[in-house]
Amino acid sequence: MNIKQTQVKFKTKIHEKVSPAENIEATVGVNSLNIRKQPSLSSSVVGKLNLGTKITIRDEQSGWAKIESSSGIQGWVYINYISKDLQPVNNSTLSTQNMENGQQSLKGKIIVIDPGHGGIDDGTTSIVGTFEKTLTLATANVVEKKLEDAGATVIMTRTDDTYIPLMKRAEISNQNHADAFISFHYNCFNDPSKNGLTDFYYQKSKDYDLATDILNEVVKTTGLNNDGTRFDNLEVLRNNTQPSTLIELGFLSNHRDDSIVENSSYPDKVAQGVYLGLLDYFSTKKQVATENQRHES
Ligand SMILES: [Zn+2]
Repeated sequence: MNIKQTQVKFKTKIHEKVSPAENIEATVGVNSLNIRKQPSLSSSVVGKLNLGTKITIRDEQSGWAKIESSSGIQGWVYINYISKDLQPVNNSTLSTQNMENGQQSLKGKIIVIDPGHGGIDDGTTSIVGTFEKTLTLATANVVEKKLEDAGATVIMTRTDDTYIPLMKRAEISNQNHADAFISFHYNCFNDPSKNGLTDFYYQKSKDYDLATDILNEVVKTTGLNNDGTRFDNLEVLRNNTQPSTLIELGFLSNHRDDSIVENSSYPDKVAQGVYLGLLDYFSTKKQVATENQRHES
């Protein structure tokens, strides 16, 4: 792809939600992915794709993507086995665009990022032995950079492998009058087939919009399943006076989720999703008038 195409595509992405009909570049995330004639497991197999193969998504419906391979094979694949390619985060196109517009999209916002667990609290452990606390911090560091580049003031509840009590994490949000508090976690379950992304709210009027806006965008940028936004009585949310959510960024007990979330590109995908989610959140919340403009442009 040449530079001109990259810029055109990027502008489309930042200004409006990706419509299913738009062509999106993607990469196969599993070995030997079946291409089917129709979007159904019972439909005939018309070809196979190997891990890492680049494809183009032409359409999407109910968990399936209509794709075309570089060799010209067309058909449907299960969308969870591919990952949509992202423009590099913090690339020069983004900086140029921000300067062109004379604005930074999250300027003036105070965002508290909470990497779950830490120190004596390892959190859960992945099927290949990685601690949750390590993944949450790695993810949070990339998100921090992304949001700062967009003009936000980012406050981290921890920046190294230390234990911070849950009460203290909420206090950091309260004392800094955060515009949003986001806690990052990774999930684990007895049933290894359980997978996907979920996030939580405590007080619906305060937290729900933030939670759904972030989850919806992170689902898009990571390509993992959407397991929904739900209520939970979580201490970092319950004691938080600011809009807050806790997002579980995939199941470390699920082979496919784990192989994706432990890939070095995953924090960039999460960061892009969180960034877009915050843009949605702040635009719908405080700038209803400009919301229409943004989607029309
Ligand atoms: Zn956790």
